Amino acid sequence: MADVITIALSKGRIFKETLPLLKVAGIEPLDDPETSRKLILDTTRDDVKIVIIRATDVPVYVQYGAADMGVTGKDVLVEHGGEGLYELLDLHIANCKLMVAGLKNQPLPATGVIKVATKFVNCAKHYFSAQGRQVEIIKLYGSMELAPIVGLADCIVDVVDTGSTLEANGLEPMEHMFDVSSRMIVNEASMKMRNATIRSLLKHIESALQKPCN
Ligand code: AMP
Repeated sequence: MADVITIALSKGRIFKETLPLLKVAGIEPLDDPETSRKLILDTTRDDVKIVIIRATDVPVYVQYGAADMGVTGKDVLVEHGGEGLYELLDLHIANCKLMVAGLKNQPLPATGVIKVATKFVNCAKHYFSAQGRQVEIIKLYGSMELAPIVGLADCIVDVVDTGSTLEANGLEPMEHMFDVSSRMIVNEASMKMRNATIRSLLKHIESALQKPCN
């Protein structure tokens, strides 16, 4: 039996935008995760399977070798820490920014503790402590924009694309932390054991990045 490579993807934007890149390597899923309940998708290549998992779980699956490769946002990757995996390609998809945002015309306290609501706990801790600013981090799992409005936090740390969600909730971007795009990550052991297959797959994807996909 062929040695199977497993690629971890999350539903939604990353899945949709990664598909045209995989297609160049002859990989097309046989089911659509938006309509199928399957979590393991067979593909047009016998030696490649796709697993559909939550975005934040992608680096975890790849770290432990439960998936050989994965596509994950730089935000998720920095938050995870990157142990046990290599970040090999910037796919230049799902582009956005990790930002500090807060209520319009309400600057953050210049002294004392800043209350920060976020799901990016590690990113926020590192960012503020590198600047010698004291923070209390409040971990949330969604609807971050609500936190400053109801007085739960002074600001949020979240991904921002157009800024329209912030705008719609009376918030504004305050500080740009770093640019986010999706990265191809590979388990360290898989990179050694399945080097030829993974390298050839990466080569195809890299070539697809040079030309517009359709
Ligand atoms: P989500 O579907 O919200 O779990 O997001 C999955 C990943 O897509 C995030 O971790 C980011 O890397 C990226 N992402 C999230 N929101 C946006 C956005 N507004 N624009 C572009 N990419 C985003």
